[in-house]
Amino acid sequence: MNTVKIGWIGLGKMGIPMSQQLIRAGYPLSVYNRSKDKEEGFKTQGIGTAASPALLLNDTDLVFVMVSDDKAISDIFNGEEGLLAAKTSGKVIINMSTVSPAISKEMALACKAQGNHYLDAPVSGSVKQAEDAILVIMVGGEIEPFEKAKPILEKMGKLVMLVGGTGAGNAAKLAINTLLGIVAQGLAETVTLAQQNGIEAEALITLISNSALGSPFIKIKGDAIINNNYQAAFALKHIAKDLRLAKDLGLATPLGETAYQTYQAAEAAFGEEDIIAVMKQVGKGENQ
Ligand code: NAP
Repeated sequence: MNTVKIGWIGLGKMGIPMSQQLIRAGYPLSVYNRSKDKEEGFKTQGIGTAASPALLLNDTDLVFVMVSDDKAISDIFNGEEGLLAAKTSGKVIINMSTVSPAISKEMALACKAQGNHYLDAPVSGSVKQAEDAILVIMVGGEIEPFEKAKPILEKMGKLVMLVGGTGAGNAAKLAINTLLGIVAQGLAETVTLAQQNGIEAEALITLISNSALGSPFIKIKGDAIINNNYQAAFALKHIAKDLRLAKDLGLATPLGETAYQTYQAAEAAFGEEDIIAVMKQVGKGENQ
């Protein structure tokens, strides 16, 4: 049994399988989620719940946060019973959400004033990689809290790398997700062109998967296209958000700009579906 007490905030598609890895590794865990129904499965497992982020931080040594976006982070930290309302020090707060470097810098300063440490530690990989504990985790922050968090992060990922100071993890993640957006759109456009010329998606995906372009991403999303299954593993609204954040960081190159436009245009209709629902957007033959 590990003795470090861990708190987990955010029981969404990623937060559930990631926190389950820590339970499996024997850490005493308690959880908080804004919508209480998502805590029920944990209660059934005998896992404790906290009434607020502040109470969770009081009762634990390290708190992980895996929520949607900058607004969610602001609510979790600055809310009346948010993390920053806790009267406790010497803790490490690890924000694994994909958010802006700017909000990480703001929260790191506030945590420091409170006497706590902040790390940004976003992840590359989706639900399947979270379930298999093979996420790639990129961290921004100071060495000392990083060393404390690393063995725990390694229970969720196959690679845990400190990439720089506060916000560097977020910047690396937004760069990677720019590639993700471009690749998903590229796959969608490739399948669309093939279909327009009488080639079945299944045949095309088999060809790509056996070529040098084959990858786990093409396999998983290719299968989703073949099976017409657009249920979200990584919601399209999240890549639309990530490309907005990347644009704030200076994304202005041709493919990046095009992907940005495509996902913004797709968000209203397909935001709750998976990123590969970009198929439906490019199939319309337009970006706007
Ligand atoms: P999700 O399933 O949509 O879950 C979002 C979580 O954030 C839920 O727990 C939600 O609480 C919480 N939340 C949202 N707004 C909030 C607010 N204002 N206050 C408090 N809590 C709030 O998202 P996800 O797919 O797990 O993704 C989480 C993060 O990981 C995102 O930043 C995403 O970009 C990133 N990410 C996702 C994937 C993926 O494949 N899914 C991969 C890598 C990174 P409620 O239950 O109350 O709504």
